[in-house]
Amino acid sequence: MFGARFTTNESVLVQHSRDESAFPPVLPSAVIYPHNTEEVSKVLAYCNQNLIPVVAFGAGSSLEGHVLPLKGGISLDMTEMKKIIEISPEDLTVRVEAGLTRIALNNRLADVGLFFSVDPGADATIGGMASTGAAGTTTVKYGSMRENVLALTAVLADGTIVKTGRPTRKLSAGYDLTRLLVGSEGTLAVITEVTLRVFGVPEKMSAAIVRFETLADGVAAAAAIVQMGTNIARCEFLDEASIRNANIHSGLTLPEQPTLLFEFHGSPTNVASDAQSVAEIVAEFGGTNFEWTSDESARRKLWQARHDAYWSNVHIYPGKRIVSTDMAVPLSALAKAVEACHEILSTHKFPFSIFGHVADGNFHCMIITDPLNPNELTDIREITHAMASKIIAMNGTCTGEHGIGMGKIESLVEETGENAVALMRTIKNAMDPNGILNPGKVLAQKYP
Ligand SMILES: Cc1cc2nc3c(=O)[nH]c(=O)nc-3n(C[C@H](O)[C@H](O)[C@H](O)COP(=O)(O)OP(=O)(O)OC[C@H]3O[C@@H](n4cnc5c(N)ncnc54)[C@H](O)[C@@H]3O)c2cc1C
Repeated sequence: MFGARFTTNESVLVQHSRDESAFPPVLPSAVIYPHNTEEVSKVLAYCNQNLIPVVAFGAGSSLEGHVLPLKGGISLDMTEMKKIIEISPEDLTVRVEAGLTRIALNNRLADVGLFFSVDPGADATIGGMASTGAAGTTTVKYGSMRENVLALTAVLADGTIVKTGRPTRKLSAGYDLTRLLVGSEGTLAVITEVTLRVFGVPEKMSAAIVRFETLADGVAAAAAIVQMGTNIARCEFLDEASIRNANIHSGLTLPEQPTLLFEFHGSPTNVASDAQSVAEIVAEFGGTNFEWTSDESARRKLWQARHDAYWSNVHIYPGKRIVSTDMAVPLSALAKAVEACHEILSTHKFPFSIFGHVADGNFHCMIITDPLNPNELTDIREITHAMASKIIAMNGTCTGEHGIGMGKIESLVEETGENAVALMRTIKNAMDPNGILNPGKVLAQKYP
């Protein structure tokens, strides 16, 4: 049915054997590149009948082993389904195929003065972002995939094609299947088309940077800014280690202190007054060297350390892999949560740095591991599990945006409880009774 679009070529299998996590790779048996929803439906109907696992593959940028084909089978690479089907500037919506990447979408939207706001750092596919419930630096103002996906076309395990949601701002029609599929990590269906909310490009963007004596002061300042309802489009935190890494990686000379970065979107007057409000609040928390700019290239330069935060670790520790956590807590617990994780990590030998989307109560601990020493990964998994337990006890979540994958299955039970997980399993069994869709992810599911 697929000709050369079905392949068992060794190097293609290797490309589909891993994501950006530190988990050791697992090869699929074959890779298929579908071109439309009907082809996805045919693949799934065939695989379901023949009990062949299918793992949807987007850009492979996920961080919890999501795309590893643990039971072999087909890696269904969605990247040749990348059409922009419809742009509706009046409705501020777009409909796209699932394999389109967010940067390709934004390049096209820029022509009509629009942008798609969810920015997870990597150039992920829209289908992958919907499937992981992705969020990013702009979530504090524009929301995550959960708020920005309006409707989907998806294919169930047996090949049935379903459409969920409508391109409307409001919808109260029946069970919310769109939000069931958003964040389902390819375990309930394969998404083939996505209708998204988009926004007008702001008239003006400005940026600011400020440093603190302690981690706790910086985090507490970010929480206060959100609690006061200040209009910020991005608010990111970097610890000393993240700044040091960025300095080495990009030849910067930033003071190696806990740092907050801001971005403001609006009219020229608004971005200036929002920055002024932030300057006043951070001063109360001991923030120093507050710098603000509305110049475009200076703004990009200020943000460089944040954009480098992940990749500087990759380059500074050549040959090593990164384990990235993404826990989130209610804002009132944020300072304590970051300190608790810093304390736990400081008692171990692994290099680490902490940064993240603090205005959402969401932060990343980056822990460096040597893939040639697999025992390290086991030790680090114990540490991340201990941190997740601490965060869950603070009413937080083990994952604000990356998802469960194969790395946080136990934490999900700890967080939501046996009854909620049993309900998830009932849903999974109803939608995928043969367990062919991404087996071994989210739930400790047994493949027949
Ligand atoms: C440097 C870096 C920074 C990152 N920062 C963030 C961040 O700030 N916020 C954040 O949320 N994430 C972040 N991530 C993680 C990652 O980019 C997101 O999880 C992203 O949403 C994954 O998209 P993808 O296209 O790469 O999906 P993949 O990795 O290919 O797949 C992810 C999951 O979705 C499933 N899937 C993929 N396509 C489909 C489909 N069409 N239908 C059904 N299931 C599908 C896969 O089976 C898998 O379970 C970061 C990653 C990197 C490398």
